[in-house]
Amino acid sequence: MHTSDIVIGLEIHVQLKTNTKLFCSCPTEAVEPNTSICPTCLGHPGSKPVLNEKALEYGTKLALSLGCKISPTVMFARKTYFYPDLVKNYQITQYEVPLGSNGQIILEDKKVVRIERVHIEEDPGALIHEAGSCLVDYNRSGIPLCEIVTAPDLTSPAEAREFMKKLMQILTYLGIFDQDTCIIKADANISIKEKNYTRVEVKNITGFKEIERALNYELQRQKQQEVKKETRGWDADKGITISMRTKEEEEDYGYIVETDLPIFEISQEWIRKVQQTIPELAEQRALRWMKEWKIDEDDARIIATDLDVAVLFEEIARKIDPILTARWTRREVLRLLNDKKKELRETEFNKEGLTELFKLLVEKKITDRIGQRIIEQLAEKKFSPIAYVKEQKLEMVAGEDILKKACEKAIAENPKAVEDYKKGEEKALMFIIGHVMKATKGTAAPNVVKELLKGLLK
Ligand code: ZN
Ligand code: MN
Repeated sequence: MHTSDIVIGLEIHVQLKTNTKLFCSCPTEAVEPNTSICPTCLGHPGSKPVLNEKALEYGTKLALSLGCKISPTVMFARKTYFYPDLVKNYQITQYEVPLGSNGQIILEDKKVVRIERVHIEEDPGALIHEAGSCLVDYNRSGIPLCEIVTAPDLTSPAEAREFMKKLMQILTYLGIFDQDTCIIKADANISIKEKNYTRVEVKNITGFKEIERALNYELQRQKQQEVKKETRGWDADKGITISMRTKEEEEDYGYIVETDLPIFEISQEWIRKVQQTIPELAEQRALRWMKEWKIDEDDARIIATDLDVAVLFEEIARKIDPILTARWTRREVLRLLNDKKKELRETEFNKEGLTELFKLLVEKKITDRIGQRIIEQLAEKKFSPIAYVKEQKLEMVAGEDILKKACEKAIAENPKAVEDYKKGEEKALMFIIGHVMKATKGTAAPNVVKELLKGLLK
C-alpha cells in the first residue's frame, strides 16, 4: 500500500491551441456566445464527427514529450452522462486505448511522477450562471482537450503545484497551449493515512497556483472532519471545497465504442514525423547552456523555465558574456517579473536595452548599483542605457584621486562615525561608505570605496 502520509493523483485537462474544433471545422476562437457552432458540435441528429488531424498531432507531441508509448491504434469511445452543457448526452473521448501511456515527469528533486495515460477528448459547452438563471455557451463544445492522468505519486500540495507548473512549461515550449487563451484544469484525488486513505476527488481547479491552495484546504479538512469517499468541487472565490456527490465509478458512465469514427492505425513514420517537430525543451536547453557557456546550474534551470525569458537570454548571451547575462537575467530580470507579478511580454524589457546595459556592466563602465537602477527602468520603458549613462554622468568613477577626495571629505564630515569605527564598530564604516556613494551618485564601486576608507582610517 502507500508509504506516504498524503497521496495525491491528478487528472489534468488542457485545451489544445488548434484553429478548429476536434470533430468539426468550427473555429476555436469566438467572441460572441454561440457563434462558433454547427450541427456536429451541437449534436444534431445525423451529424457526423470528423477527427481534426492537428489535434491528434498535438496530443501525440505532448505524449511523446512526456515519454509515453504511443498506441498505433486510435479509437474513440462515448462517455455517457447527462449534463446541460453536454449536447449529445455523451462526450467523445478515448477509453479502451489511450493515445499515450506510461510516461513521466521528473520534478526538481529528481522525483519521478508516473503518467498513466494521455488521451484526447472534446470539451463540453460552458454554463454561465447569471442573476439566478443559467445560460449555455456552445462555443466551447467540441474544443480539443488533452487529458493527462498521473499515478498517485504526489505527496504534497506543493509537489502538485510543481508538477502542474512543469507540465505547463512543456506545453508552452511545444507551442500547443496558449497561457493567455487556453484553459488548464485539474481534478485531484487526495487521501491521507490518518483516514485510511479514503479517496476524495476535488474537481475544477484552474491553474497551478489554485491547485496548491485547493489541496491545502482539502488536506486540513480531511484531518479535522470525517472523510467519506466522494466528489467535491473547489470554490476558488470562497477558498473551500464543497461536497458534490458520492463518487460514481467508471462503469457508471457506460462507455461504448464511438462507431461514428473509424478505428484506425497510425504509422511509425507518422509518429517519427511528429517526434521531429518537438523543439528543444527546457531541461535540454539548460544543459546546453551549462555545457557550452559554463552557466551555473541553478541560473540555467531557472532561466529555462520561462520560454520567453529563455529566448531573450539566449539572444543576448550569444553577443556578450553569457555568465554575466545569466546572472543578471536571473537575479534582476526574473526578480523584477516576480515582484511585479508580470510575464516578460507585459513589461518593456527588450533585447536592445538589456544588451546595452549588460555591455556597460561587462566593460565595468557602471557599478552594479547603477545597473540595478537602470534595469528597473528598463522594465517600464524603452531607452538606450548607453546614452542615458552618458547623459546622466553615471559612468563609474575611474580616477582614484577623485574617489580618494570623496572619501576624505566623507571622513571630515562624519567625525562621530569615524570615532565609532575606530572603536571597532564595523557598521560605522558602512555609514561612511554610504556617504561616499551618495556623494558620487552611486558611480563608485563600493568595494573600492571600502578599501580606500580602510586605508585612510588606519
Ligand atoms: Zn462545430
Ligand atoms: Mn476527461
